[in-house]
Amino acid sequence: MIKIDKNKCVGCGKCVEICPGNLLQIKNRRVEIRDVRDCWGCTACVKICPKNVICYQLSADLGGAGAKLFANDEKNALKWIVKFPNGAEKIIEIDKNQSNKY
Ligand code: SF4
Ligand code: SF4
Repeated sequence: MIKIDKNKCVGCGKCVEICPGNLLQIKNRRVEIRDVRDCWGCTACVKICPKNVICYQLSADLGGAGAKLFANDEKNALKWIVKFPNGAEKIIEIDKNQSNKY
């Protein structure tokens, strides 16, 4: 399930454009999701948001209860950032030029 920190949103609309389910919308210059139950967790919005407004809440079997997954999409690398409830962080870096080898 995704989580949205509306206060950090700058209303750029990139997530709205990329969501394949047309689930996101801008209201009063902030993003919101129409119905989070319709989200299937593709993480496209997580990857494209330049402000880390949207994260993916990891279930216990994936990353530990309460851990959150953010992404920084850089020119040559996609960095997945896992933030654990105890404050620890783990970064998984994917080299875009090698991504077909993963
Ligand atoms: S995770 Fe995918 S389906 Fe869910 S809101 Fe984001 S872009 Fe849309
Ligand atoms: S991409 Fe991020 S900053 Fe832009 S509208 Fe969506 S949530 Fe807000």
